[in-house]
Amino acid sequence: MKVIQVNKPGELAIVERPAPTAPATDEAIVRIKAAGICGSDVHIFHGKNPFAVYPRILGHEAAGEVIAVGSAVTNVKVGDHVVIDNVFSCGKCYACRIGRPNVCSNVKVLGVHIDGVFSELLKLPADHLYPVPVDLPWELAATMEPYAIAAEAVDRGQVGVGDTVLICGAGPIGLVILQACKSLGARVLIMDIVDARLKAAAAMGADAVVNTKTSDLEAAVNEFTDGEGINVAMEATGVISILELIIAKLMSPAGRVVVLGFPVDPAKIVPADIMKRELDIKGSRLNNRKFAEVVRWFAEKKVDPTGLVSHVLPYTDVEKGMELFANHPEEVCKILIKFD
Ligand code: MN
Repeated sequence: MKVIQVNKPGELAIVERPAPTAPATDEAIVRIKAAGICGSDVHIFHGKNPFAVYPRILGHEAAGEVIAVGSAVTNVKVGDHVVIDNVFSCGKCYACRIGRPNVCSNVKVLGVHIDGVFSELLKLPADHLYPVPVDLPWELAATMEPYAIAAEAVDRGQVGVGDTVLICGAGPIGLVILQACKSLGARVLIMDIVDARLKAAAAMGADAVVNTKTSDLEAAVNEFTDGEGINVAMEATGVISILELIIAKLMSPAGRVVVLGFPVDPAKIVPADIMKRELDIKGSRLNNRKFAEVVRWFAEKKVDPTGLVSHVLPYTDVEKGMELFANHPEEVCKILIKFD
């Protein structure tokens, strides 16, 4: 079978690997049909992910067809169309014991710590598979992993009806969080520095957009909230000064700050700003078993992935997709590669 692997930072190759052997009793084999290119794949390609070990088969966003199942598998059967939960946990550490396996001390993520989904075939434990309707196009099904990130973020931020939400960053993750917030009845202001992305956000239902290259974010938040401050901030840019501004000036009392970007430099935060408004500052990482919920969102049309996918390429063009993603944010939203 063909796989897409990074041999070492900067060196991507399509190589032949042995096809998986017969599944164990609790495993299944999936023929991958479509997979999303994510910023984290590009980071691993460029050697900028500290967790990655090389060589590594990339990819953690995929949909495919089940072609074999072990004797004890009951949740999926041969022929099912499925999406893949990319998060693997130990089941024993503190986070796992309290029901937070996405931050397991020993967490393993497909395409990062272990070989991923950019592969014609993938064998994995069947409990990581979720059936989807057979009439859902493969490239739309493959966007469910980003929506699982959004499900986690709105859960962490306790987003509810009437809340004002500021989303920082209108890339694919900002846009799926936007859709999730709108489906929950929140009002959303979204910021970016690329007009094309803000245009996409407006088309997906953002109540207001602000380009912070040309406009002041604090003024936009004041106007949007009538001076109350934002109830929930989703920080997905990874720009430290934005997180600093959120905590210092943008939040309402009892607000929630959800941190999705992960720069490693220190931020300047004044503890009194947290204490006096009783802010919750929460990380949001991967997803905590959110795929079933996302499959429901799709079935009930609470979210619409059609505007998210900007490019569908054959898997042989994966390097072109990576280059587009890294260098042309004004043209690119979600890029899918297809295996068939
Ligand atoms: Mn991703």
